[in-house]
Amino acid sequence: METKQTTIASAVQEKWNKRPLLISGPCSAETEEQVMATATRLAATGRIDVLRAGIWKPRTRPGSFEGIGAKGLPWLAQAKKITGLPTTVEVATGKQVEDALNFEVDILWIGARTTVNPFSVQEVADALRGAKVPVLIKNPINPDLELWTGAVERVAKAGIEQIGLIHRGFSSYGNTEYRNAPMWHLAIEMKRRNPTLPLICDPSHICGRRDILQDVAQTAVDLDFDGLMLESHIDPDNAWSDAKQQVTPERLAEILAAITWRFEDSTEKEFVTALASMREQINQLDDELLQLLGQRMKIADKIGEYKKNNNITILQTRRWNDILERAMLKGDKLGLSREFITKYFDAVHLESIHHQNKIMNA
Ligand code: PEP
Ligand code: MN
Repeated sequence: METKQTTIASAVQEKWNKRPLLISGPCSAETEEQVMATATRLAATGRIDVLRAGIWKPRTRPGSFEGIGAKGLPWLAQAKKITGLPTTVEVATGKQVEDALNFEVDILWIGARTTVNPFSVQEVADALRGAKVPVLIKNPINPDLELWTGAVERVAKAGIEQIGLIHRGFSSYGNTEYRNAPMWHLAIEMKRRNPTLPLICDPSHICGRRDILQDVAQTAVDLDFDGLMLESHIDPDNAWSDAKQQVTPERLAEILAAITWRFEDSTEKEFVTALASMREQINQLDDELLQLLGQRMKIADKIGEYKKNNNITILQTRRWNDILERAMLKGDKLGLSREFITKYFDAVHLESIHHQNKIMNA
């Protein structure tokens, strides 16, 4: 039986291309009434592009709700029919891909606990072969860009053309402010490596609580993410999974309304000219800084030769402390943080040591 989607509906394609792409819905589909009520209330806000719901829930520990299973797929199909919202669910096995496509789920996503396992990702990818469906890939729970990249490659090799990334934070031992540390630099690096793939942020699983959802969402927008996935529930406190981080559809709309949307580019002429001129100044200053650093290293080389001829060690701790202390005081006056000064001087100092090492041991 050929059941796979062979084309992407133009409505789905349109949503996929929209910026910001906004996805919301419950962590888990629980009952038909809950799915329908969440979907209609979300649709009524007019702010959501895609309806999400977990059907199969990979839980870290047994004993909690592991998802309603394929029985929930007709509920999503019905919710789509009534609201017009395309749907997305998480898939972790070949059978789940098959079931989801049979019920015309529009977008699939691979969860953080699946991305860590190349066997599972390959199984999902094999089941996707020949399907025309966009696939979102969450970062693995551990901070490993190679695993994330590997999952993207496996899905791409299966012929999937619309692939997106979801940054949902990384787990770490012990409690922090977050359920999963955002480690923004990793998402930014992933975006740098894959500039054509949309990158969406999932503040719900980063935060694990409601009160900081908006801050995290705003940070993602400021970092030029392409969209957000946020969990919402008609009765968050009594949700069968992830109760603490879910908000009502109406609260979700308030959070989205309070976000300042910023865009990477503007076509406004005055802005573009002003930005270009300031960037030119930055480029010139960077060039000058590099010139000066080059000169600084030439002097370090000379000192290296002098030390070599006089049998003196490269590192002299007291001198290094003096340099740092002087720089901190200057930095304070110039509005440069002590953390930056320390990092910067560490890097410059290391480069000096490399230079002098080469000379001493030539
Ligand atoms: C989810 O989206 O509900 C989920 C289980 O997410 P993650 O895979 O990021 O933990
Ligand atoms: Mn969840």
